[in-house]
Amino acid sequence: MNYICAIQIMIVITVCYKYKVYHQNRNHEVRLSEYLRTASWIYNHCIALQKRYYKLYKKHIGLYKLQAHIVTMKKRCYPKWSEINSQSIQQITERIHEGYKRFFNHDAKHPPTFKSWSKYKSVTFKSTGYTINGNVLTINKQKLRLKFHQSRPITGKVQTVCLKRDSVGDWWVTFTCRIDEQQIKVKTMTGKTAGFDFGLKHFLTSSDGVYIESPLVLFHSLEGVRKKSRNLSRKQKGSNSRKKARLEIARLHRNISNRRTDFHWQLANHLVSQYDIICLETLNLNEMKKRWGRKISDLSFSEFIKILSHTCTKYGKKLVMINQWEATSKTCYCCGTKVDEMPLNVRKWVCPACETSHDRDVNAAKNILRVGTSTLGIDDVRPAKQAIIA
Ligand SMILES: [Zn+2]
Repeated sequence: MNYICAIQIMIVITVCYKYKVYHQNRNHEVRLSEYLRTASWIYNHCIALQKRYYKLYKKHIGLYKLQAHIVTMKKRCYPKWSEINSQSIQQITERIHEGYKRFFNHDAKHPPTFKSWSKYKSVTFKSTGYTINGNVLTINKQKLRLKFHQSRPITGKVQTVCLKRDSVGDWWVTFTCRIDEQQIKVKTMTGKTAGFDFGLKHFLTSSDGVYIESPLVLFHSLEGVRKKSRNLSRKQKGSNSRKKARLEIARLHRNISNRRTDFHWQLANHLVSQYDIICLETLNLNEMKKRWGRKISDLSFSEFIKILSHTCTKYGKKLVMINQWEATSKTCYCCGTKVDEMPLNVRKWVCPACETSHDRDVNAAKNILRVGTSTLGIDDVRPAKQAIIA
């Protein structure tokens, strides 16, 4: 198979390792929060500056001008800012700059806004300001030692370190590493291709006729979420019990999101080990969210695409996204006849031209495969064997 050789191009990729920081003594906790609070102070200062500048001159401050201003302010007015690593400050300004760029490119609805210190979540170190020794991360300036639970070894060269506080109040450390070509584990090429149709009834339907169901974690935990929210709303504002109830609900949401992400990773790894080329349809998720709301959010398809795309790159496989305007459901994959109407409640239909009976989703998946492989210029697509999702 010639095309498989053509797509087997190795590239350098980045991977992230996320570890939980052990619970520390009270003093450590306070100092870490203080660190984040100073970072949020700088962030909000920059936002205020941008807003004022925009009012006066109708444009935003460039990245280097903003960075130079911060350096001056650090020396003249706010010596406390020197506690933050200079590269972390640069990263804060870059984050704001990116936010404005996205806003001016119409990718974001609004420019970056103020964040209260309690909602400010993370601080990022680039190449300096920290030392890693085994499972201990030390922030050099503060001499703050953070021990984390190293569940697996870190491979590759560490590029950035991100310290993050989640809504429950636990701390996490994320190492972004660059992996070289030699360190990438290659999955064996199977020579199989498949198209997948995303649906509300079944999470994915493959062109081989296999249905993959979503665990619908939010749907199954909905009663618990409702109960906990009711509990929270009954508590008196500012009370300790309200704080406890808030933490409980945050913990439940974290659990839901972890379970969903776990499912996505397992499925992505399974698909990548089964197929060499995976074809999917681009979806207008914002429109779908408007129509079906929570159900679409629960499936979290865009997150899955991101994970699948990353896994494909990592193992040298190919992900093909086809145009969303392609009529995959309405077209018969046998003869290419396009029917005018196909309401959502029709699950099975018979083609008026060639009289083949179709399952709606399988037919769509086969069409996605056909369109996807045609963009690659492959004429001979071997049918893949039945896959079983454990
Ligand atoms: Zn037909």
